[in-house]
Amino acid sequence: MTHAQINPLLVQVLSNEEVKENIPTISSVPGKYVREMFNQIKAINPISVVNHQTLTCTSCGRKGKYDVGMIVVNVDKKDGNMSDNIQTTGYYRCKHCNAAGNWELPQSMLFQALTAALPLGDKGISLVGKNLLFDGSWHKHATDAEEYLLHLIQENPNDSYLWNRLGNIYRTGNRPELATSAYEHSIAIDPKQVESHYTLGLLLLDIKDYLNAGYHIRQSLLYAEGYKKLEAMQLREMLAIGLQSLLIIHYNSEGSVPFIPTEEERQATGRFSSSNGYDSIEIELDIDPNEISTFYPLAEMYMGIRAKEINLRNRTYQMPSTTPSKKKKVRKKKRKR
Ligand SMILES: [Zn+2]
Repeated sequence: MTHAQINPLLVQVLSNEEVKENIPTISSVPGKYVREMFNQIKAINPISVVNHQTLTCTSCGRKGKYDVGMIVVNVDKKDGNMSDNIQTTGYYRCKHCNAAGNWELPQSMLFQALTAALPLGDKGISLVGKNLLFDGSWHKHATDAEEYLLHLIQENPNDSYLWNRLGNIYRTGNRPELATSAYEHSIAIDPKQVESHYTLGLLLLDIKDYLNAGYHIRQSLLYAEGYKKLEAMQLREMLAIGLQSLLIIHYNSEGSVPFIPTEEERQATGRFSSSNGYDSIEIELDIDPNEISTFYPLAEMYMGIRAKEINLRNRTYQMPSTTPSKKKKVRKKKRKR
């Protein structure tokens, strides 16, 4: 019988208890949305290409078919043989003994790796490059990166960013139910973890949970200004995609799920409260739902002061009442007094 392919260490770190079972089931993975995500797993768009291969587990000697995802070939690594220099994005563990990372790779996979650098190679399946973690570390399998992050998390259990990165490993490994649990945990530690709100929202949109998808994406807008883990341009791109998704949610829910944060939500997070005068601003938006850049002005508005990190040429949002130069002058005058 095959099982859920879940790392017992994940369950242990999530539940903060010693886990005795070597082969956990999905019911031992905590999270409000985890079960639903697992039940509707087929509705979720795979992030990585689906690439089924027959691998042999060297821990138990048994063969199985696994979705290895994309093959990334590190041509800088000159040591070892070909199979030591390739990475796979898929998240998979032995169906029989639940071991991870001890694989004998089939010739068909090595062939995919060989063609990565060729002009005729299938760029969807394999490419030349390196998948590095946020700290620059290189890991062969998604399960290796997972193990590495789980150990970092054990040393820093309240680091919501590490939990977000772990969620990303599961997401690109086509394991959205595990990603969901990691993102939920990340937000439980830090409700201002913007990237976790955002990606969790997109996953919930995939399973058409519009209410919760909308909530989490709106939260990512509200906390964007204080979020320092992304460059300003990346942050704007993320928020713009979030806004585009919110518009889709708004339409699909026939208007019942708000497009932008509600007054109540704004007050709860202390952003755009009436004291700073933001709510009197009306901006003219010319949104084309299919054109992501038309969401930039609104995204920049939610970025607040962080929008100023985008150079003027690329910036799209201006305070409608006064131009930035005029405002400066006014401030200077006040200071002189
Ligand atoms: Zn095995």
